[in-house]
Amino acid sequence: MMELKTTCSVVGGGPAGMMLGLLLARAGVEVIVLEKHGDFLRDFRGDTVHPSTLELMYELGILDKFLALPHQKVTQLGGQIGTDFVTMADFSYLPTKCKYIAFMPQWDFLDFIADQAKQYPGFSVHMNTKATQLIEENDCIAGVVAEGPDGEMRIKADLVVAADGRSSILREQARLPLQEIGAPMDVLWMRLSRLPSDPPQTLGRIQPGVMFVMLNRGDYWQCGYIIAKGALEKLQSEGLESFQKRVVKIVPFTADRIGELQSWDQIKLLTVQVNRLKKWYRKGLLFIGDAAHAMSPVGGVGINLAVQDAVAAANILYKPLSEGNCTEEDLKKVQDRRTFPTVATQDFQVAVQNNVVKPTLEGTIVSGAPWPVKLLNLIPPLRGIPAAVIGNGFRPEHIRSPEKK
Ligand SMILES: Cc1cc2nc3c(=O)[nH]c(=O)nc-3n(C[C@H](O)[C@H](O)[C@H](O)COP(=O)(O)OP(=O)(O)OC[C@H]3O[C@@H](n4cnc5c(N)ncnc54)[C@H](O)[C@@H]3O)c2cc1C
Repeated sequence: MMELKTTCSVVGGGPAGMMLGLLLARAGVEVIVLEKHGDFLRDFRGDTVHPSTLELMYELGILDKFLALPHQKVTQLGGQIGTDFVTMADFSYLPTKCKYIAFMPQWDFLDFIADQAKQYPGFSVHMNTKATQLIEENDCIAGVVAEGPDGEMRIKADLVVAADGRSSILREQARLPLQEIGAPMDVLWMRLSRLPSDPPQTLGRIQPGVMFVMLNRGDYWQCGYIIAKGALEKLQSEGLESFQKRVVKIVPFTADRIGELQSWDQIKLLTVQVNRLKKWYRKGLLFIGDAAHAMSPVGGVGINLAVQDAVAAANILYKPLSEGNCTEEDLKKVQDRRTFPTVATQDFQVAVQNNVVKPTLEGTIVSGAPWPVKLLNLIPPLRGIPAAVIGNGFRPEHIRSPEKK
């Protein structure tokens, strides 16, 4: 069995894990990231790079390089609510360098972060390597066992950071208490081709009984059809043709290509979870990102939260990790720093789930936008409020960890 030793082993190469890997390596801390897949190409990921994340790139001096990658700038987010089109968020009001969301497939974002991290000698990422077991010694986590392309490996580490997402197996093993908050919906995730004559922007549509989002991914639309939790069976029993008709009814321009959906296998069910750990750490182990707090897709803020957790963790931990004395108290500081933005964001998401998503899916919402939402059209500066919540989050982090030359 291969044996490795490092200062910090990060499990999971999503936004949280890759950003933490980059920042720790940049500060001179040796770090090994384990990612169970062979690449970052998975279409269930969201595509949003928020103004706050772009601000971090600016602080790191890599913004221009990043923006050279193909992306779409979205300065306003709007939605069709019944008969009303409402502009709900306007990022031009934000006090950030980039006053927009950059829409970019998440695998391009992660490849970019990995390339930046590989410039530092202390960084390595093991792809196709799945962490299977925590190594526990004297009630302290001392590393992880993983299954890689060449068989089993043991990675001893001063700190293990679990950034392995909402289905974290390390969370189960760590036996930390979880608070389930719940969500009334799931998402059906599918692709439809995109034609040059289609509208360019990302579309969200809300009608009684239906919510539908479309992400522009160049030559195809990544579509999310939101259903009430557990409603898939009923939809399937009505037949695929009936489902196709539902999609065309909400987005008529898809009529000429809806036939591309030929089987339910092309329509993936993504189960929405909202929960958070009551305690994010144990001696030698810290949880961040979705592994610490699974976010609802409402507002598309999960990537932002994951990245912000990584920045806070690097700011707080780079020094004790460099000095070989990272304590439980240091790990607690990370949770203390990130609890407020996590709880505030989840509270906001739950309010939208209960007051907009649930009544919409039950078909009880009125045919147009409710009056508080209409105010956003009447008084444009109000759009700066949702823009700040979505684009910057409740406690935007800044890079405080240094670059060790
Ligand atoms: C349908 C859907 C759409 C979404 N859209 C958006 C959006 O538009 N904008 C947004 O901000 N958020 C969106 N989100 C939420 C967002 O995807 C997550 O909040 C975010 O990806 C969390 O980042 P993370 O790094 O914590 O975890 P993840 O992105 O889940 O990354 C975890 C990584 O760990 C790896 N891994 C898991 N287990 C192991 C293991 N045992 N060993 C090694 N590696 C492992 C996984 O392969 C994965 O790469 C969406 C979520 C869903 C479900």
